[in-house]
Amino acid sequence: ELRALSKSFTLGSGLLRKGRKLHAVSEVSLRVPRGQVMGLVGESGCGKSTLAKMLLGLTSPTAGEVLVDGRPIAGANQKALARHIQPIFQDPYSSLNPRQRIAQIVGLPLRVHGIGSPKEQAARVAEMLDLVGLPGRAARQYPGQLSGGQRQRVAIARALIMRPALVICDEPTSALDVSVQAQILNLLLDLKEAFGLTYLFISHDLAVVEHLADRLAVMYLGRIVEEGSREQIFGAPRHPYTRALLASALTPEPGLGVPDIGLGCGQPDPSAPPSGCAFHPRCPLAEANCERHRPSLNDAEGGGRVACHLA
Ligand code: SF4
Ligand code: MG
Repeated sequence: ELRALSKSFTLGSGLLRKGRKLHAVSEVSLRVPRGQVMGLVGESGCGKSTLAKMLLGLTSPTAGEVLVDGRPIAGANQKALARHIQPIFQDPYSSLNPRQRIAQIVGLPLRVHGIGSPKEQAARVAEMLDLVGLPGRAARQYPGQLSGGQRQRVAIARALIMRPALVICDEPTSALDVSVQAQILNLLLDLKEAFGLTYLFISHDLAVVEHLADRLAVMYLGRIVEEGSREQIFGAPRHPYTRALLASALTPEPGLGVPDIGLGCGQPDPSAPPSGCAFHPRCPLAEANCERHRPSLNDAEGGGRVACHLA
């Protein structure tokens, strides 16, 4: 559970930006139910990855807290967080140490936390490699000897070996060949079913998220603007930004009747977000009030939450 989690950076250099604050993540409150997949979507630069970094202890929040099973863990150090939350990153090429054998890489979390004897650790590594569909001989190989898909399987094995409460998948397939993407997504789903895992699945690709997520949160310029079940978000999106994202996705939904407002360009500078509703300069439905008052994220009829004056 994230409670009003915020992160701002002070921009240091550049004449125009000096001293200006970049609110990368603003008051994000979100519950990820155990055993479910929460999709987190939005354009690049909307704060998704900063949010992930705070959950992983890679950067500390400016305000707010993170709770796992009702216990606050924000502010905890990275090692303590790693017991609860583990990542699978976008790029399996850079997230694996090229000089370590796969067995060392996958077993690292166990060694860091002093879990089990070396023999027990080796057995657990072998079990994990098998679960992610890697042959036993992979244990002795180096990342450079494996394909991109195999490397992402290694990253998945390393993330799951601690049996974390939450796995953060940050664009885990976007660096892979299209033919491999589906295999990795299906593996993530199978493992989730088998072990009752909980994922926060970050992606800019709505087709991927539709395949996996039970619920979705849509972020725009650091804030959640809509949250709801997969059926709500894909079937009856309520926020104009959610509708625009769906309209601009690869598989158009003609039934939504939303003009493509050209999301490919025109995202405002996050360090100088528009007043009121930050989406108002791009919103086809904006009214005068939208420019002056920021809508709060309220419970919506039929479930979920939405931040729009017209919702
Ligand atoms: Fe558009 Fe206004 Fe709703 Fe913002 S509050 S999304 S500008 S209608
Ligand atoms: Mg990112």
